[in-house]
Amino acid sequence: MTSEFELIARFFQKKSHRSDVVLGIGDDAAMLAPPPDMDVIVTVDTLVAGIHFPPETDPESIGHKALAVNLSDLAAMGAKPAWFTLSLTLPHADNQWLSRFSHGMFSLADRFEVDLVGGDMTHGALSMTIQAMGFTPKSKALRRQGARPGDAIYVTGCIGDAGLGLAAVKSPVRLDPASLEYCLSRLNRPMPRVEIGLMLLNLASSAIDVSDGLAADLGHILTASGVGADVQLSSIPLSKALRDFYGEQPDWQTILGSGDDYELVFTVSEYQVEKLHRAFENQEVAITRIGSIHKNKDLRFKGNKGARLLLQHAGYNHFGH
Ligand code: ADP
Ligand code: MG
Repeated sequence: MTSEFELIARFFQKKSHRSDVVLGIGDDAAMLAPPPDMDVIVTVDTLVAGIHFPPETDPESIGHKALAVNLSDLAAMGAKPAWFTLSLTLPHADNQWLSRFSHGMFSLADRFEVDLVGGDMTHGALSMTIQAMGFTPKSKALRRQGARPGDAIYVTGCIGDAGLGLAAVKSPVRLDPASLEYCLSRLNRPMPRVEIGLMLLNLASSAIDVSDGLAADLGHILTASGVGADVQLSSIPLSKALRDFYGEQPDWQTILGSGDDYELVFTVSEYQVEKLHRAFENQEVAITRIGSIHKNKDLRFKGNKGARLLLQHAGYNHFGH
């Protein structure tokens, strides 16, 4: 039998990227040295097998996604990620599973030069909790509050790919192999928009990441800011996979209500719009204007002929029925 300590040493203790980790894995707690002129931004998210991913999902994807969802929260705050901790609950110590999980997680960690600085391992039904920490310049973090009437609303990338990927995991859907692969990779290997969050620091008036569906998450900005919004459905960016799948009639209820996009939604005051577009001229990931903030506290999705869409369900709610 391999001991817990051997497993940690083998799968989780890696060479550090960072000089601000005074003490990493191996003591009773980690010791970290944040830069004095920065705020520390902290977030935590749990993934549970059977709830957040099917138990048979490939372990590399699980490792990637467990970290990605946390880095996405940091991105939404405009934070530069630095450190994370991992609490892992496993039904049994399966070396092959651990090796692949660790590989998926550290591939993403290496890309952003973040260090795993500690954690815990327990025995039980498969689940994992990652806490991620990052920095923003003092008092500059992007927040949900701050959207003002007249502000433009933007999203990064495309919306709805992961939702279609999840539908395809649950039952066969009519998708060509390339589109299926694309939607599954968007579901299982979301790329947190960290660089974009950093670029938005002095540009956006509010921001959030889309984890529960565009309608629900934009709704959080509106509630926090005490405003409403008009969104043009025809402006919402859809990938080629979705355009091919839906043709002329996208199923907006599903696209706006399904989660796991891990794109950013943000607002920008009209006088910053030009600067925003200049900043994003050479960016690989597109930003798209989808609507505007108004002062009536409602969220209206508008179709082509001015028809309004009423959403039946707004996002995933763990405790709703
Ligand atoms: P303690 O009993 O003091 O909590 P543990 O045996 O849980 O110590 O952990 C020993 C060391 O290994 C600690 O530094 C802890 O942060 C680290 N550690 C434990 N589990 C993990 C994990 N899954 N990933 C990374 N580090 C871990
Ligand atoms: Mg412990």
